[in-house]
Amino acid sequence: MPQHARSPRVCPNCDGFATVAITTGTRHVNGTRTTVPIDCPACHGTGATRPTHPREAARV
Ligand SMILES: [Zn+2]
Repeated sequence: MPQHARSPRVCPNCDGFATVAITTGTRHVNGTRTTVPIDCPACHGTGATRPTHPREAARV
């Protein structure tokens, strides 16, 4: 079994890519696509898990 013992605890939900740009389908007047930055719901955009209290994590 491969070991995943990386010292920084990367969020398993987003694998470190905490913020992604979602295209909304609309375009700006200059032709570029409108993107909305979405933070990972699991790590809240931090890209890493943190040993915090479950009560605190649920509050956010
Ligand atoms: Zn994440």
